[in-house]
Amino acid sequence: MIVYDLSCSKGHTFEGWFDDRASYENQKEKGLISCPFCDSTDISRIPSTFAIKSSQPNKDYPEQKNVTAQLEKQIMEFFDKNFDNVGSNFAKEALKIQYGVSEPRNIRGVSSDEEEKILRKEGVKFMKIPMTATSDHDG
Ligand SMILES: [Zn+2]
Repeated sequence: MIVYDLSCSKGHTFEGWFDDRASYENQKEKGLISCPFCDSTDISRIPSTFAIKSSQPNKDYPEQKNVTAQLEKQIMEFFDKNFDNVGSNFAKEALKIQYGVSEPRNIRGVSSDEEEKILRKEGVKFMKIPMTATSDHDG
């Protein structure tokens, strides 16, 4: 799986997920990729901030493990920069944002299975990202 940062002819930027580069080229060729803001199919790729590779062994990447670790680090840095770490208050904060008590923002943190059930019931949109690194010295 690969993530490309894409931009349309009007300068809107958005992310596209593809199986590989060939898949991107193919979809672009057929005009299947359109800007979510203006539906333009005049799309070009801008240098990607990060890409996620499958864990499948790849003979072209003898240092696959290293690459994966690096990508994971980049992703963590991305979340560090763009998401407010609320730690174990994740469910509480998510609900506050959902009901307009807290300022809408990107947050990250941890939640229990029970809290996740509540969030789903309340219609809170969230995603789970499995991470191998568990140490977090924020704050
Ligand atoms: Zn656009």
